Amino acid sequence: MILPGATLGMLGGGQLGRMFVHAATSMGYRVIVLDPNTASPAGEIAHLHLQANYDDAHSLKALAQECDVITTEFENVPAEVFEHLEENCLVSPSARALALAQDRIKEKRFAQSLSIPPTPFQAVNSEQDIEKAFSEINAPMILKTTRLGYDGKGQAVVKTMQNGMEQWNALGNVECVLEKRITLKSEISVVLARSTAKELSFFPVAENVHRDGILFTSTVPAKVNEKIQSLAKTYAQKIAEELDYYGVLAVEFFIDADDNLFFNEMAPRTHNSGHYTMDACYTSQFEQQVRAICGLPLGNPVAHSAVTMVNVLGDLWDAKGQQPDWPCILNDNIKLHLYGKHEARLGRKMGHFNFLAKQDEDTLMHAMNSFKMLSKE
Ligand code: ADP
Ligand code: MG
Repeated sequence: MILPGATLGMLGGGQLGRMFVHAATSMGYRVIVLDPNTASPAGEIAHLHLQANYDDAHSLKALAQECDVITTEFENVPAEVFEHLEENCLVSPSARALALAQDRIKEKRFAQSLSIPPTPFQAVNSEQDIEKAFSEINAPMILKTTRLGYDGKGQAVVKTMQNGMEQWNALGNVECVLEKRITLKSEISVVLARSTAKELSFFPVAENVHRDGILFTSTVPAKVNEKIQSLAKTYAQKIAEELDYYGVLAVEFFIDADDNLFFNEMAPRTHNSGHYTMDACYTSQFEQQVRAICGLPLGNPVAHSAVTMVNVLGDLWDAKGQQPDWPCILNDNIKLHLYGKHEARLGRKMGHFNFLAKQDEDTLMHAMNSFKMLSKE
């Protein structure tokens, strides 16, 4: 067990790292953040911000020496960095879990190996692969780069084979995956924690709405049949146990019109669709991450309120960089979280708010009304 007073290492300095620092420091831990960026939402509130590249040998050595355990908030830290750290320090999640989650083809094949169905897909390394996809999978499809995609970036909808070839060229002919575009009834995610003492704990399943490939809202309780929710949890648990996973793990799923459940992707870290836990659950996903990697007993994940989380993107700032009119929504039921980012850009995650209500209330409707006030929609 790594007790309060110890030093925790965080690779990545974005908002997920920042909220981890809040949780860890409030439990009495010290946190060192490694983040190459000068402006670092997590770095600016940590005990130390090591500003260096993720593969900077000197900083990694310092981190391994100073920290009792090292974790990440950014899944694209090179997996080799984790492999190297693993030799010198306790690291969670493992380099293996990180490497899988960085690669859409590997993670889909891994899911299949556990009898968890991904969306029908074809790996694309040549034009022949695109032809094969069109002979086996019904269009429309989505072409995605295998690596480094996030928030819908590196993706294109593809309707014809010709179109597929063009889009693959436009993506620079890097390794891609072509997958069936599911007609979505809904999207859900499972965020779980598994501690170094092998204790497992699920947060309530969140129902997610995306806009332009970026998460827009997450709602709990999900309006999705209980059987499907419990199947999604079973799948996520299988993944965590097969990987002997330590830390917080998020798994995203699609549900089609016939109530079929498909694995979409996994993230070896806290997740945007788990931000609702900060205010609606007895324990937040960030506190749970601290407890899990330190081997402490996990906290109670139960939601005491119904909640909808709404992401606040840079789109809400005006052309002069003026922030939205927060006071107009800050009534009793809203908790606002901003990440301290200095520059608002279109599509950039600047913060989120959680709309809380009694268990049977329609928080999505209330939260949307608040969002409309902010965005003057
Ligand atoms: P990212 O890594 O950017 O989150 P995702 O693969 O999760 O990439 O895609 C982002 C969103 O785009 C999904 O949450 C979903 O709304 C939509 N999407 C992606 N793939 C599909 C698909 N095969 N069928 C239907 N919608 C999809
Ligand atoms: Mg996703």
